Amino acid sequence: MKRFNCACGQPVFFDNSRCLRCGGHLGFDPERLDIVRINQASGNHWSDADATEFKLCANSVAHGNCNWLVLVYDTDDYCLSCRLNRTIPNLDHPENPRRWRTLESAKRRLVYSLLALGLPVQSKVRGWPLGLAFDFVEDQRSNPDVADAFVLTHHADGVITLNIHEADDVVRVGVRESMNERYRTVLGHFRHESGHYYFQQLVAFAPVVEDFRALFGDERNDYAAALERAYNEGPPPDWGDRYISAYAASHPSEDWAETWAHYLHITDCLETAVAFGLHEPVAGDFAAALTAWSAFSISLNEINRSLGLADAYPFHINEVTADKLQLVHDIIVGSTLPR
Ligand SMILES: [Zn+2]
Ligand SMILES: [Zn+2]
Ligand SMILES: [Zn+2]
Repeated sequence: MKRFNCACGQPVFFDNSRCLRCGGHLGFDPERLDIVRINQASGNHWSDADATEFKLCANSVAHGNCNWLVLVYDTDDYCLSCRLNRTIPNLDHPENPRRWRTLESAKRRLVYSLLALGLPVQSKVRGWPLGLAFDFVEDQRSNPDVADAFVLTHHADGVITLNIHEADDVVRVGVRESMNERYRTVLGHFRHESGHYYFQQLVAFAPVVEDFRALFGDERNDYAAALERAYNEGPPPDWGDRYISAYAASHPSEDWAETWAHYLHITDCLETAVAFGLHEPVAGDFAAALTAWSAFSISLNEINRSLGLADAYPFHINEVTADKLQLVHDIIVGSTLPR
């Protein structure tokens, strides 16, 4: 993530909608990938110092849970992130506005990274058949009144379904422990599921799918059988030599999604480290960035241990995973999809 400042000079953050120093209104402009200070012209009509005219995202106006701006002449009242929503939580449930806010905040971080990487972010529910959409749903574990007994977070045909109970720390940590995972966050879910979506966009029907299969394996292998085997037998004992996580060992599609998620973790964290002066800008290619990250993540973990916290990045990047991350990088950089 970049570092942001209000027009008055005060450091501000990605989720801020007010400057605590000058009191000005702030919004995130997804075109410039920057926080801007805005003045109200009339009603929901705002402008910045350059006289660019905006409206606040409709979710900001109605629910106060978004700080992204929409150009005033856009026919859509929702920002680039919120217009991806197909299903939002039932807001009559008293816990759901809070859960939804957590999900939207993480989703905006995902969308920021996708835009910064130059990837297309188009809304399936706004008429783009190959676009992306989100269903935020609950099951009977958090709400006995809904139809679904059990909703798994997953991706299918451009729709990312997230069980909103993942926004509850107690639930999410409980699942993490029961699944013996090292890391489970809402942002991590979004990054992982977006990997499945962009596999369809960038890899599945492109010549590069052969490079993918040479490194990751054949994604056409029986998925249900592979997941059942992983669930019953656990990962192979040497998974740490070939995969970024135990779950990645379950199937080539999951290996891709896990590796994609780590590509986003690594590039975002390095951007943040450089923005805050914790790391020199990395000169050179992606391999140099990966070397820098491997060293930096050790310092990051030590800082967490100094606070009595769990490791921030409890992963080791082996040589095979480094090659897979390099392929993810090459595919993103080489993407010719129109934005
Ligand atoms: Zn200010
Ligand atoms: Zn929004
Ligand atoms: Zn997956």
